[in-house]
Amino acid sequence: MSTSDCLFCKIRDGKIKADVIFQDDRCLALRDINPQAPTHALVVPKKHIATLNDLAPDDEPLLGHLVVVAAKVAADSGHADSGWRTVFNVNQNAGQTVFHIHLHVLAGRVFAWPPG
Ligand code: AMP
Ligand code: ZN
Repeated sequence: MSTSDCLFCKIRDGKIKADVIFQDDRCLALRDINPQAPTHALVVPKKHIATLNDLAPDDEPLLGHLVVVAAKVAADSGHADSGWRTVFNVNQNAGQTVFHIHLHVLAGRVFAWPPG
C-alpha cells in the first residue's frame, strides 16, 4: 500500500481528523476510535512503516521512542502503577488491520493472559 492510501499517513497529514493526545517530531498518539479498554491509544510513528517485518536497522531508535511515548500516555492517564499493556499486531494472524505500524496502549481494566 502506498502512503497516500494509508489511514495513519492521512491522519499525520491532517487529511483525516483524529483525537490526537500527544505529538512530537517523530510520532503522534491518538485515541483509538473503537476502544478496547477505558484508555486505548495508538502511538504511531510519522514515518510510514507497514509492519514490524519492514523495520530497517535505522528504525531502532524510533521504536524505542514509541515505547517511551507509550509509557508517557499510560502515566498521563493515571495508569502507570495499576498497570497497562502494549501490543503491536503483525499481519493476519494477529489481526493487524492498519498497515502502518502502531503501538496500542491499553489501560484501565484487568487484561487476561494469555491474550486471546
Ligand atoms: P490493528 O488492528 O492492530 O491494525 O489496529 C488498528 C486500530 O486502529 C484498531 O484498534 C482500530 O479501532 C483503530 N482505528 C481505525 N480507524 C481509526 C481512526 N480513524 N482513528 C483512530 N483509530 C482508528
Ligand atoms: Zn502510513
